[in-house]
Amino acid sequence: MLSGVDHDVPDGIGMARLAWTRLPTADGEGAGPSTSEAADDELLSGAAIESLDYEVIENYAYREEQAQRSKFWVPYYVMLKWLFALLIGVGTGLAAIFINLAVENFSGWKYTATFAIIKHSYFVGFFVYTVFNLALVFSSVYIVTNFAPAAAGSGIPEIKGYLNGVDTHGILLFRTLVGKIFGSIGSVGGGLALGKEGPLVHTGACIASLLGQGGSAKYHLSSRWVRIFESDRDRRDLVTCGCAAGVAAAFRAPVGGVLFALEEVTSWWRSHLMWRVFFTSAVVAVVVRSAMNWCNSGKCGHFGAGGFIIWDISGGQEDYSYQELFPMAIIGVIGGLLGALFNQLTLYITKWRRTCLHKKGKRVQIFEACLISLVTSTISFVLPLLRKCSPCPKLETNSGIECPHPPGTDGNFVNFYCSQDREYNDLATIFFNTQDDAIRNLFSAKTFHEYSAQSLITFLVMFYFLAVVTFGTAVPAGQFVPGIMIGSTYGRLVGMFVVKFYKKLNIEEGTYALLGAASFLGGSMRMTVSLCVIMVEITNNLKLLPLIMLVLLVSKAVGDFFNEGLYEEQARLRGIPLLDSRPKQVMRNMNARDACKNQKVVCLPRVSRVVDIISVLRTNKHNGFPVVDRGQNGESLVIGLILRSHLLVLLQAKVDFQNSAFPCGPGVLNRHNFSDFVKPASSKGKSIDDIHLTEDELGLYLDLAPFLNPSPYIVPEDMSLAKVYNLFRQLGLRHIFVVPRPSRVVGLITRKDLLLEEDNNNVMPELQSTSG
Ligand code: ATP
Ligand code: MG
Repeated sequence: MLSGVDHDVPDGIGMARLAWTRLPTADGEGAGPSTSEAADDELLSGAAIESLDYEVIENYAYREEQAQRSKFWVPYYVMLKWLFALLIGVGTGLAAIFINLAVENFSGWKYTATFAIIKHSYFVGFFVYTVFNLALVFSSVYIVTNFAPAAAGSGIPEIKGYLNGVDTHGILLFRTLVGKIFGSIGSVGGGLALGKEGPLVHTGACIASLLGQGGSAKYHLSSRWVRIFESDRDRRDLVTCGCAAGVAAAFRAPVGGVLFALEEVTSWWRSHLMWRVFFTSAVVAVVVRSAMNWCNSGKCGHFGAGGFIIWDISGGQEDYSYQELFPMAIIGVIGGLLGALFNQLTLYITKWRRTCLHKKGKRVQIFEACLISLVTSTISFVLPLLRKCSPCPKLETNSGIECPHPPGTDGNFVNFYCSQDREYNDLATIFFNTQDDAIRNLFSAKTFHEYSAQSLITFLVMFYFLAVVTFGTAVPAGQFVPGIMIGSTYGRLVGMFVVKFYKKLNIEEGTYALLGAASFLGGSMRMTVSLCVIMVEITNNLKLLPLIMLVLLVSKAVGDFFNEGLYEEQARLRGIPLLDSRPKQVMRNMNARDACKNQKVVCLPRVSRVVDIISVLRTNKHNGFPVVDRGQNGESLVIGLILRSHLLVLLQAKVDFQNSAFPCGPGVLNRHNFSDFVKPASSKGKSIDDIHLTEDELGLYLDLAPFLNPSPYIVPEDMSLAKVYNLFRQLGLRHIFVVPRPSRVVGLITRKDLLLEEDNNNVMPELQSTSG
């Protein structure tokens, strides 16, 4: 239903009914690499990375469509956004429950079987334990390498990149979501030194993106009814909700989720996005809580009261004295140092893996993950065997703690290789146990002093080593839980010394373990506010808030002295070109012209021959081209910017080709539907090699005017590069034109010109008078 072409418009651009977003794809998941190996190669080389189009392309189609929308469209659109926020919360909550349920049950079966067997033979027990772990890890690495290469790692650097404006191919696909969920179950259930929290953020983002694009066309799970949010800009908001939902579900920390999205992953934030993200997190909290209530009655096997991260340490240290601030600051320093070292070591190892090891193929990746699983199983089984058991402390009958206690269930004091029944093995309590229980034990705030310094140091060294080598293997992996385990170990060690030193004070080792955990995460990930809130929410202890703030500030400052945060380092390593919030200092002394010095701008004429367009696209890899036209006096005029992806759609559709070298006539624009030009999120677009034209078609012409962006952002050539950077970053742009100084000014817009009439009537009189 097009109104045709309007030749009276001043710049001579035709009227389009189209509002483009992204390129369509053959299979609905993008015409990316045909094999996952090819995709993997692309991911490794960084070639699969492309900027997103967050800018609204205000071509005539867009304006016309805006004008034709009924007055109910905006409320409908807003209502749908809230509905989607609800669905993202429910979806992510359910995914988290499923992952936890599976992991807890696998771990439960593993430990139950192993403990039943070691009563007869430790060797057979070790064999069963190792094979169980190996099978789970193998399933995880097999899924990732053969089915969903983009599901490897935590996914947070890629999502951070996505929200910064760059799309890594494959990160938001349906198969990535499936790979992430099942891969996490295998890697976490298989006892590797990694967590499921980072993958849950990625899972939330995938669910959000898939919902936003109306499902997955490739797997016939899509519906036109929900395909409303087709622009990258809308998807960006949904993905932000998904990230927050992931953290909220992982830690049962809804406010922490909102702040994590705000502080760590997003580059742009608006107040109404805050409300929606807050709503999504609240929904997650309700969904997770309902599942927990249901499972507490024992309907979910081994997944019960202790089966979801929440390390409630209330009942521990109530207050702190000023003398304790010094050792707490020391924990912050240790966290900063160990966190920065972790980032550096993982950076080196990941670099080596990407350039040498993983290039050798999938088999090497599978072998590597299996080998690490074997090493992890051996260390976690054999080291506790070498420890001497300690007698169980005298426990109050109402304390709720049993000694000894079987591992894999909620409780301290694991009896492992002990000669007496009433003994426990302190190293097995943390090493030969599920991660959640190990952390709960380390955080435990009763004054039993159940860990020896020797066990804690052994665990710290070995687990740190395992966490470093496990990071970067081809399995879904989060760094939150390993970080918490490492931090709480040295925190508890410091706590033991402080207890000895300040005998008179009421000090709990568990409090120091908690501060240690916060300090390591702060030293590695460099988050402050969000981590602080997450720690408070998961430990249910508001009184320790100032102390957590202190250690986080110290550890972040110390870590920043050495290197960048974990996610930034990993993003750079993966070739994701993140734009920081601030420009580099040197940019202040450069101007826009310096940034594009020696550049020969490749332009296209308004009406171009098809063969010329093909030749330009073949010889240049650029994603945008200025379009020029002749003015009335024959002078050259830049009339806009055309995207490579849009040119490819036009070339493939062929319907806009014309015989004449003059601007197109009316009716040319209704040959396309809006949905023809929509590409699902995170899919690789078409390439020029997909275009096949006959000799005759190559000789035809194409009028680009209806399809271009007529109002790209423009800066004068002598604007400082720092200013250009801020403009580019803050507006989420993909292209910006650098032009000579303009010769005249048509007008000047001020604050008052941007207010509507009714607003203007309310403007303060002083402003009225000053603004004329
Ligand atoms: P994107 O993710 O959009 O591809 P990019 O930075 O890789 O971002 P490209 O369009 O691939 O951008 O361009 C790569 C380089 O070529 C940039 O340095 C850019 O300044 C330059 N460039 C882009 N378009 C043109 C053009 N039409 N003519 C000349 N140089 C261009
Ligand atoms: Mg490029």
